[in-house]
Amino acid sequence: MALVKDAIVFENVGQTFATESGPLTALDGVDLTIEQHQFVAVLGPSGCGKSTLLRLAAGLMQPTRGSLAVHGYPVQGPRDDIGIVFQQPTLLPWANVLDNVTFPAKHKRGRVGSTDRARAADVIKAVGLEGFEKRLPSELSGGMQQRVGIARALFLNPDILLMDEPFSALDALTRDSMGFELLKIWQGSPKTVLFITHSIPEAVLLADRVVVMSARPGRIIADLEVPLGRPRDEAALRKPEVLDFTADLRNLLISKETVL
Ligand code: ADP
Ligand code: MG
Repeated sequence: MALVKDAIVFENVGQTFATESGPLTALDGVDLTIEQHQFVAVLGPSGCGKSTLLRLAAGLMQPTRGSLAVHGYPVQGPRDDIGIVFQQPTLLPWANVLDNVTFPAKHKRGRVGSTDRARAADVIKAVGLEGFEKRLPSELSGGMQQRVGIARALFLNPDILLMDEPFSALDALTRDSMGFELLKIWQGSPKTVLFITHSIPEAVLLADRVVVMSARPGRIIADLEVPLGRPRDEAALRKPEVLDFTADLRNLLISKETVL
């Protein structure tokens, strides 16, 4: 029985897709419990089922095996208290930044009120897009579009944030600064975060725990606590115990083939 302090619980979850060349098992026997307001990063080779894991937690599909609970209840569909950031920003091309960010309010309540606009201004500022409210997605760089997607996910102040390689389209500098911004947002307004990434340093900088997956069918092969307190800065990543930890993660991933 899941405790309420557990935000997300996967129990023996498996996912098999029907494909033209027969059944394809993307995930197998996944047991994962994420406590409320914990920040968990997931690392694993391409195609190992990371996005599938996230889509299951989001309620975008049902697992073929096992069970999944969010805040103690089975996941039956998408929920307002879960914000999702996909690898591609999936913005409405005809709507400006402000309208994209407030879209969840429009979708939920049919209108966007002054409180919504004030909230949108806060999250737009948090992702560094102040002044771009009236721009269309086509007028923004890929990295800026991704930040609009992040602002939209934060807009309803969800208790759970699911992020699928959210910074992979950003250049290295923006990527680092967005990581620190995300930590600030998370510390100011605690959330359970499931963060998928290809980057070991990013996982170590951001997360409380790092979960490592095997190549397909994805299974959890390691679940490690990050040996770093908070707040964190770049210098913390150079501490000997953190370098050792990073090397351990690299070995786990290399032994499983990968594109890191
Ligand atoms: P990752 O995010 O780790 O790269 P995914 O979760 O996207 O991996 O995919 C895991 C495996 O499942 C891949 O082989 C992928 O092709 C397959 N897959 C994902 N979604 C579907 C789907 N809807 N139908 C068929 N196969 C899928
Ligand atoms: Mg993926």
